[in-house]
Amino acid sequence: MEKLKLKLSFVIISMMIIIVLVTSSISIWISYQSFNEMLVQSKPDVQEEYITEVSDIDVNYVQENAETETFAKEKVKQVDNQVQMENVFSLSAFLKKVFLPLLIMFVIVFSFVLWLTMKITHPLQEISESGRKGNKISSLQSINDWYVEASNLKNTMLKSLADSQNAIDELTDQLKLDSLTGIPNRRSMDHVLNKLITEKVPHAIILIDLDDFKNVNDTYGHTVGDEVLKAFAHKMKESVHEQGSCFRYGGEEFMVILPHTAIEDAVTLAEDLRIKQALADNPSGRPVTLSAGVTVFTSTFSSPNQLIAIADQALYEAKQSGRNCIRIVEDLSIAINH
Ligand code: GH3
Ligand code: MG
Ligand code: MG
Repeated sequence: MEKLKLKLSFVIISMMIIIVLVTSSISIWISYQSFNEMLVQSKPDVQEEYITEVSDIDVNYVQENAETETFAKEKVKQVDNQVQMENVFSLSAFLKKVFLPLLIMFVIVFSFVLWLTMKITHPLQEISESGRKGNKISSLQSINDWYVEASNLKNTMLKSLADSQNAIDELTDQLKLDSLTGIPNRRSMDHVLNKLITEKVPHAIILIDLDDFKNVNDTYGHTVGDEVLKAFAHKMKESVHEQGSCFRYGGEEFMVILPHTAIEDAVTLAEDLRIKQALADNPSGRPVTLSAGVTVFTSTFSSPNQLIAIADQALYEAKQSGRNCIRIVEDLSIAINH
């Protein structure tokens, strides 16, 4: 159903009030007239006496002016009292028969206007209060916007909420991703590792460092170095696929996290990636190899840093062994106590 436009509704309401007032005025007038008729009918004697005596006074006063002046004055006074009595009686009846219906009518019209005002302001109040509620979108959607203006306001609010939610989502994504390679960054890595360690989920990690990368930059320039990093990130994601997640740890260092993976499988994956990288064409035009340290989570670890320290130990050994190779740390206690 099409929503009511408030401007139009005000015209309708004003017209209704005018109609109510006009009809009530007419009915008051009619009832007043009929009341007077009733009064005249119920007191024909008073009426008659009033007419006769007043006319008597006039005629007598004109014809026998001096003769009965005192008597005439007395008569005028009597008739005057009668008229006054009649007037007092008329006023109280008028209050009962005319003022009371008028008062009832006023109360009805006032109640209607009050009800309508509340009905109009209720959606506006709810829209303003929805900003303070937890789920703003669902509380806004549940508001009964029965007229066009409230509906427009609600839709504008919903749109701006959706826009800001999209902007927040975009910024949150940007916070999680590395801007150069597009893969998750160190912040995301810390979050994932923390969760796995806190929940004691078995997992393996591979810490990767590209070999002699400074030399790549120095020889081919920083821009080419960037392209090599991007190409490697892409290759790493391809190799790991759905087995785990890839992160840029920092600089030319990367991390692979493999939940529910034994160390042998992690080593196999790392070795596979190492060979691919060593053989692949890359933007620098010459092979850029990698070295990696592999380790697994045990219940003795309580923080990501302990686990990373062990992987770093293994990586250091790989570098010491001449690069382009994989190492695992056999004595975990060395790194834990480090
Ligand atoms: P190693 O084999 O021992 O790891 O030697 P390396 O040269 O790779 O290591 P080193 O730590 O000496 O140098 C790392 C280089 O990586 C230096 C730094 O300029 C470069 N690098 C770090 N981040 C970026 C980046 O975002 N883009 C580019 N182009 N280079 C980067
Ligand atoms: Mg490094
Ligand atoms: Mg390096």
